[in-house]
Amino acid sequence: MIPPTPGRIEVITGPMFSGKSEELIRRLKRARIGRQRVACYKPDLDLRYQRDSIASHSALTYDATLVASVAHLREELLPILCNVDLIAIDEAQWLDSSILPLTSQLVLLGKRVVVAGLDTTFAGEPFGSIPSLMAVADEVTKLSAICMVCGAPAIHSQRLGSSQELVVVGAGGLYEARCRRCFLPYADDETSEQLELPVVSGGFGVH
Ligand SMILES: [Zn+2]
Repeated sequence: MIPPTPGRIEVITGPMFSGKSEELIRRLKRARIGRQRVACYKPDLDLRYQRDSIASHSALTYDATLVASVAHLREELLPILCNVDLIAIDEAQWLDSSILPLTSQLVLLGKRVVVAGLDTTFAGEPFGSIPSLMAVADEVTKLSAICMVCGAPAIHSQRLGSSQELVVVGAGGLYEARCRRCFLPYADDETSEQLELPVVSGGFGVH
């Protein structure tokens, strides 16, 4: 049997408010126009979203299957793999490092894999598996945002306020894009939590 022509790995990264999800959606729309069959996934982090409000800031939406882990993503994907050309994964910074071997397997099967996620934490450190995915990708698109303090191009995601306030305030106004000059690394206990995978309890929904 002749092995399939390898696919490609594309990574879309950058800070919050840099338009990663919009870029991902743009590629998905183009793929659909090109009659590519698309499957979209994102980590099921509803609890974290409510606490940390890192849901998409875009008015654009797309349907994605929520997955609790890379193992769950694999389970969801395998039965439909033959009918999928493009696999999109958003918010991939929250997925564990087994995303790397999965991505490698998919690309050898001829799939186009498009991964979007934050490249750095609110402490300014490399975030999860995104830097490694960038290393093995065919194409990396690193977007910048606009610094909300000075208007310069921004590569950092700034978390505002204390963790106590995070619980109370909820969604709005807790994050800003910042340039190197204006960025103040967020460095309380919340920071180390960012690299831990969330505990997700049952009820994997599709939305
Ligand atoms: Zn600035």
